[in-house]
Amino acid sequence: MSKTTEITSIISTLSKLNMQRTNYIFSLVHGKSLVHGLPHKVFRKCGKNNCKCKRGELHGPYYALSVNKDGKKKIVMIKKADHRLILKEAGRYQYYQKKLAHIRKINKEIDVLLEKLKFITTKYYP
Ligand SMILES: [Zn+2]
Repeated sequence: MSKTTEITSIISTLSKLNMQRTNYIFSLVHGKSLVHGLPHKVFRKCGKNNCKCKRGELHGPYYALSVNKDGKKKIVMIKKADHRLILKEAGRYQYYQKKLAHIRKINKEIDVLLEKLKFITTKYYP
């Protein structure tokens, strides 16, 4: 690959990465609230002897958040009245974390490409 072709290729890739990063950033900066925690369903036994759950048909689903607090994993039950809102906000939190990881990956890729471009185009004088 010629030097000019390589430079053009790097600039093109930088442009794509930068656009992608901008899209990710602006999909996160809406200012809506997020709830920390990974949502999941919980099924339970009630303990009554003649109940269907005794035969394996568990009660639920109930919704809970798996939360990391001080390095420990905690399960927090979500009140039924809060399901819709909390699941939506927890979904936003998961989305945020995922996109943030993408943005960090892109930052590293951009850094590598800029170093490469610097290496290709730098002259040493005299
Ligand atoms: Zn039961």
